[in-house]
Amino acid sequence: MYVFNALVSTAVFMVSEFEFIDNLRSKYGLDKIGDDSAVLPKDADTDLLVTADMLIEDIDFRLEWTAPELLGHKTLAVSLSDIAAMGGEPEWAMLSLGIPESLWKTDFIDRFYIGWFEVADEFGVELVGGDISRAPDKLVIDSIVGGEVAKGKAIMRSGAKSGDLIYVTGRLGGAAGGLKLLERGFDITTDLHDPTAGLALRQLKTTPQLKTANLLQQLNIATSMIDLSDGLTSDLAHICSASGVGARIYAGRLPIDDDLRSYFTYDEYLEMALHGGEDFELLFTVSPNDFEGVPGTCIGEITDHGMELVKNGETKPLQSKGYEHFS
Ligand code: ADP
Ligand code: MG
Repeated sequence: MYVFNALVSTAVFMVSEFEFIDNLRSKYGLDKIGDDSAVLPKDADTDLLVTADMLIEDIDFRLEWTAPELLGHKTLAVSLSDIAAMGGEPEWAMLSLGIPESLWKTDFIDRFYIGWFEVADEFGVELVGGDISRAPDKLVIDSIVGGEVAKGKAIMRSGAKSGDLIYVTGRLGGAAGGLKLLERGFDITTDLHDPTAGLALRQLKTTPQLKTANLLQQLNIATSMIDLSDGLTSDLAHICSASGVGARIYAGRLPIDDDLRSYFTYDEYLEMALHGGEDFELLFTVSPNDFEGVPGTCIGEITDHGMELVKNGETKPLQSKGYEHFS
C-alpha cells in the first residue's frame, strides 16, 4: 500500500511515461530497467535477455483493421525486435491473453496462434507458458520473450559516443504510412491486391531484424542500439539520453520507404520517416573508424548534446515527437 501511494503521489507531477519509468528507476534503485530488454547474468559465458510488451485493443491495434493471424504474428515479432535491439538470440516466449467472451466463441484465438507460431517457427522460439483470463470487452495481450547473448555483449542504448555515426536498417515511415491508409479505410480483408497493400502490411506484419542484429554482433561494431518502435526521433532521443550525447540527422539521407512517395507529399512522408512509429527497424551507432561494410544507411552522427536536423543546408533543432501513451 505504501509503495502504491508513493507512486501515485509522484505520478501526479509526471508528464510522460518515460519520466515515470526514469523516476521509478531512481526512486527504487532499479539499474536493470531502461533498455529494450533486461540483461540478467546466466552463467560464466552467457547473459539472459528478457523483454515484455503489452498490446491493448483500440490502443495498440484495431481488430477491424487487421486479421487474427496478423495480430498473432505482430505480437511475437515486436518482442523479438527488442531481443534484436540488444544483439541477442531469442529462445522462449510466454504469452498471456485477456479475452472478451465475444471473441472466445469464434475462431479468433485459433487463428491468432497460427500467426504467432509462424513467427515462432521461423525464429526458433519455444512457447513455454502464459496465462488466459476473461477480459471485460477488449482483447489484452501480454508478450514476454527470453533470449541469450554472449556475456557482456548485449548492445545497450547507453554506449554512443560523440563522433559515432548513426545508422538505420531498412526503410523508414512505411508503418506510419500504412496506418494512415488504414485510417482512410484500407480493408485488409478485401484490398490485399491493392497497390497500397504493401504499406498496410508494413504496419500490420512486422519483421524483426534478428539477422542484421546477429551480423552486427559478429562484426562487433555497434556502440549502441535500439529498435524503432516509437519513431526515429523518440528512439534516437532514448539513445541520446541513455548515452549522455546529442545527435545530428540529415533529412536527405533518410531511407524513405519507396511506396510512401506514391501516396504522400514530401512533407508528409518526411514527417512519417522522422516521427512515425512501428517500423521495427534497428537504429544503431558505430565508431567512425568502423564505417566499412555496415549493414544499414548512415543518417547522421552523434554530437555532444541536443538533437538537430539538417534539411536543405539549414540546421534546426529536432524535437522528438513519436508515440507516447501519456503526454
Ligand atoms: P520498448 O519500446 O523497447 O518495448 P518501453 O518504452 O516499453 O521499451 O520501456 C522502456 C523501459 O522501461 C524498458 O526497459 C522496460 O522494461 C521498462 N518498463 C516499462 N514499463 C515498466 C513498468 N511498468 N515497470 C518497470 N519497468 C518498466
Ligand atoms: Mg524497443
